[in-house]
Amino acid sequence: MDCGSVYGLAWLGGEVLTPLPELIRKQKAWVVSPSQRGYFCYFSGGPTSENKVMWLSIYREKNPSVKQNLRADLRNRYKDWTDPTMQDIIAKADPKYIHRISTMPELPEWGRNGIVLIGDAAHGMSPTSGQGASQALEDAQTFSLLLAQSLIECYSAQPQRLINVSEQLAIAAAIRALSTIRRPRVRRIAALGRLLDTHLPCATLLLRILRLLPFIRNCYRLFNKRLSQWDVNKEVRRVVEADLLTSDQ
Ligand SMILES: Cc1cc2nc3c(=O)[nH]c(=O)nc-3n(C[C@H](O)[C@H](O)[C@H](O)COP(=O)(O)OP(=O)(O)OC[C@H]3O[C@@H](n4cnc5c(N)ncnc54)[C@H](O)[C@@H]3O)c2cc1C
Repeated sequence: MDCGSVYGLAWLGGEVLTPLPELIRKQKAWVVSPSQRGYFCYFSGGPTSENKVMWLSIYREKNPSVKQNLRADLRNRYKDWTDPTMQDIIAKADPKYIHRISTMPELPEWGRNGIVLIGDAAHGMSPTSGQGASQALEDAQTFSLLLAQSLIECYSAQPQRLINVSEQLAIAAAIRALSTIRRPRVRRIAALGRLLDTHLPCATLLLRILRLLPFIRNCYRLFNKRLSQWDVNKEVRRVVEADLLTSDQ
């Protein structure tokens, strides 16, 4: 079932055994190669001693279900690349499935009647953002803190006989606060994924040139830090202190 918007990208991937390059062995790096023909990405798929490499390829494909020879297509797509590890992976890979990529439209609310949506269910985004799983984890942590706080307030404020009703209100308040806190962040990240999908070749080239300049390199690091270091506790505290976690909204 497609419940999101499909914008013509597909992905396939798998794992192969191949000697890990130094970069991956020592720094646990992911190698991501963007090009006009799509992304090719690989990284270690287990303890480095196993020499197991996970790989994936994302590219434009409107109707992936009718693809016939995925193996030949993959080889042809990246035949000009000189990275020996990549060529080794592609020579060994034998993909059987290709998956259409769908994204979610923005939802008006993230839960109702005691049910909460987190992760892809709330905001499925393009995998080129590289953030879907991370955002699901941030959602989970944020919601657990909000729910705990909301229930503490509920139990300390209510006489015993009203607790059932007020618990429901406290849960509803936590769900509302979750979307208040998380929505702006996932919106920005989803937009970044869309931008990369639309302007991939230009963005990659520009970034490569700009990263050579120290100032830009530092800005880029700062941007990455901002992306990866989101302070859940701080964000939850902000909402609690602003009295937004009230059950009577
Ligand atoms: C090619 C690709 C590359 C990606 N790369 C990255 C990356 O580098 N970094 C990153 O952070 N994210 C990445 N993502 C995104 C990431 O995989 C998802 O955002 C993440 O898995 C979402 O987690 P989730 O728990 O919300 O949903 P899912 O992982 O989809 O989990 C939902 C689970 O619910 C199960 N389920 C569904 N319906 C039912 C039902 N009715 N009953 C019981 N079970 C059910 C499903 O089988 C599934 O196991 C990538 C995605 C793709 C496709």
